[in-house]
Amino acid sequence: MSTSDVVRDWSEADLGVDGRVLEVVRAPAGVLSAASVKVDPMDSAVVQLAADLVATMRVSPGCVGLAASQVGIGLHVFCVDVVGHPKARTTHGTFALCNARVVEASRKEKGREGCMSVPDLTGDVKRATRLTVVGQLPGSAEEVTVETDAFEARALQHEVDHCEGFLFLDRVAGAHAIFPRKTYL
Ligand SMILES: [Zn+2]
Repeated sequence: MSTSDVVRDWSEADLGVDGRVLEVVRAPAGVLSAASVKVDPMDSAVVQLAADLVATMRVSPGCVGLAASQVGIGLHVFCVDVVGHPKARTTHGTFALCNARVVEASRKEKGREGCMSVPDLTGDVKRATRLTVVGQLPGSAEEVTVETDAFEARALQHEVDHCEGFLFLDRVAGAHAIFPRKTYL
């Protein structure tokens, strides 16, 4: 089985703990602009955090990804789930990654992004539409490679950015590419 299939088969049930819904912090909270600390994916606190991120993402309408810094915790963990999004092509279901990094990125395209930590704005951001990310699964520490495209690629770049202390606002071409948010979905 490829590690991509391992990611597809993963679910938060694999973590073996119940996720708690946490409060999402908003810009300009300092934790959002600091680089997150790499983690031990087997650490029980990291496993709990991954479960909490998934639980918080699930109760948040329109939320397709959430990084630990967004719940005020500066650790290198995030979750993603773009299933059902109209702009998604390749998808890997719900998954969480620790210590993830982009190893290949190509075919940049501009697209609209929002963020729970910047609730009143959206912005046009150029992101790679073909992407390879390597990271570790919380709980098992298995190293996995996620090759994806389109909207899942965008969501992954947005979350890796959070772990490095960047918001989408740091990636827009300028004030002309920032817009007031009209809907949350
Ligand atoms: Zn965000």
